Amino acid sequence: MAAMRIIVIGAGIVGLASAWWLARDGHDVTVLDRAPAVGQGASHANGAQLSYAYVAPLAAPSVPRNLPKWLLSGDSPVRVRPGLDPGLAVWLLRFLTACTTRASDRATGHLLALSALSRASLHEMMQATPVEFHHKRNGKLVVLSSAQSMRDAERQMRLQATLGSRQEALTAAECVALEPALATIGGRLVGGIHTPEEEVGDCLALCEGLAGVLAAAPFNVRFRLGTEVRGVRREGRRIAALRTDAGEIDADAYVLAAGARAGRLARLAGIALPVRPMRGYSITAALRPGNAAPVRSITDAARKVVYAPLGGALRVAGFAEIDAGRDELRPERIAALTATLAETFPDACAAEDLHPERVRPWSGLRPMTPTSLPVIGRTRVANLLVNAGQGALGFTLAAGSARLLADIVAGREPGVAAEAFAPG
Ligand SMILES: Cc1cc2nc3c(=O)[nH]c(=O)nc-3n(C[C@H](O)[C@H](O)[C@H](O)COP(=O)(O)OP(=O)(O)OC[C@H]3O[C@@H](n4cnc5c(N)ncnc54)[C@H](O)[C@@H]3O)c2cc1C
Repeated sequence: MAAMRIIVIGAGIVGLASAWWLARDGHDVTVLDRAPAVGQGASHANGAQLSYAYVAPLAAPSVPRNLPKWLLSGDSPVRVRPGLDPGLAVWLLRFLTACTTRASDRATGHLLALSALSRASLHEMMQATPVEFHHKRNGKLVVLSSAQSMRDAERQMRLQATLGSRQEALTAAECVALEPALATIGGRLVGGIHTPEEEVGDCLALCEGLAGVLAAAPFNVRFRLGTEVRGVRREGRRIAALRTDAGEIDADAYVLAAGARAGRLARLAGIALPVRPMRGYSITAALRPGNAAPVRSITDAARKVVYAPLGGALRVAGFAEIDAGRDELRPERIAALTATLAETFPDACAAEDLHPERVRPWSGLRPMTPTSLPVIGRTRVANLLVNAGQGALGFTLAAGSARLLADIVAGREPGVAAEAFAPG
């Protein structure tokens, strides 16, 4: 297909990876973001896990069982804050409808295929244009604290084994033997699922590195940062131009990669997209010399907290607040993450490095769809494509999502079943 002028809206990891694959195909790409720098949205300080095998959708059969507990508890890791937004009710209904074994297994299959494509695609990108982002294959251990959650996890592991995942179930003692830093909480564990091939990396460093690569030859991508899209000018079935705070900007095609705000922006173009923000929090604490910190990425399923070693620091992330996406960083969430870190890995960090001002508090909005399947492909607006809704796995799925998008634009046979991710 002939090269086109394409504007990618969003300079998070999904937009930047999209720009990489589109520019590699010879398109003339501009990346536009309202923030003054790349990676300022959800891609900034996320959980850092390239979690290729741990892709089960959030809409799990266990959710209806746990929902009353989450809704009633004030300090629950999962929280729904109903607002005046009728879209939220529709989204929640679709989410609950997806909480069946059948829907969850089906989504797992599609997400595993996309994550395998993502691993291969990220490795290909890094071979072609290396970027330093603390990228490592460190493995991941999900530890579980109840017999029921262990049974659920083993069932998921057996399903994924039939789809090619290499994972093993461990007893509590085996978890502690593999990762001695877990000794403090060993008493409450019933076991874990170990995935030796999982990877870790700093998503912001990857965004910044990619921006550097993209700005140079042979990619020659242009960046229009600090430019907000406020509307679109339609001409029939096409977008004629984006209306921005810097005036109208036009192209042959537009890729909506605006993360948690993709749903809102799609509405401006007359399209319904089931992407809603789900807020999460992180801290990044310096490791002390001779520390007893985990080497692998750890997910403490009971606490719904993930830990990832990142250079000389430990990234700790958690919480899921389904809300209207107000910009706020609640100090009690940061205090809770810090307390959980101190309790779980008491010898990882020096006490002074756990001070609220030194833990680099952050919060961001995961772009969630009800099924956890991202939305990738052409829309019924002829020159508008979407690449959004990667949810809690956007760092993991960015490279494969971007490659799928470029394949769709080029009319190439994609490496995964594209219809599973098609808008609408
Ligand atoms: C606490 C937390 C932990 C996480 N942990 C992990 C993890 O361990 N592994 C993993 O794979 N994923 C993780 N995620 C998910 C991952 O961070 C996201 O899925 C991913 O960053 C989404 O990337 P994105 O490019 O779609 O969105 P973003 O990074 O949010 O980028 C979207 C961009 O669009 C721009 N934009 C929005 N509206 C406009 C507009 N009107 N005009 C111009 N620009 C606009 C924004 O400024 C933003 O820069 C986590 C997320 C959170 C919040």
